[in-house]
Amino acid sequence: METIFSKIIEGTIPAKKVFENERILAFYDIEPAAPVHVLIIPKKPIPSMNEVTTEDLPLIGEIHAVAQQIAAELGIKESGYRLINNCGPDSGQAVPHLHYHLIGGAKLGALVGGSKSHA
Ligand code: AMP
Repeated sequence: METIFSKIIEGTIPAKKVFENERILAFYDIEPAAPVHVLIIPKKPIPSMNEVTTEDLPLIGEIHAVAQQIAAELGIKESGYRLINNCGPDSGQAVPHLHYHLIGGAKLGALVGGSKSHA
């Protein structure tokens, strides 16, 4: 499926890249939620976490290693950060290509804002 992120991988939409290898791309989010907000995506077009298979587990592990490396490079490894995946409608997932938000650079607020539906 063609998405904004597949176009960024192809290079037909620009992005401010922070990391790239044959399997993984990371770039700054266009609407940052914090001083540091990077998206880390596999180049393989996996629509969401629901479609991750056991075959993909090395790739998912590598994404964690890349997140750690980027956090160090951007100076938030020790101050702290979140690595967030949104999956499906209730999460607000807007782009159907697996992605992880690496967010930090400030004290972050509540993990789940506003809704009292689980209170
Ligand atoms: P999600 O809601 O988890 O699907 O997150 C999608 C993210 O993609 C949002 O934080 C958007 O700001 C971000 N985004 C959408 N288009 C672009 C783009 N062209 N470049 C960088 N980030 C983007």
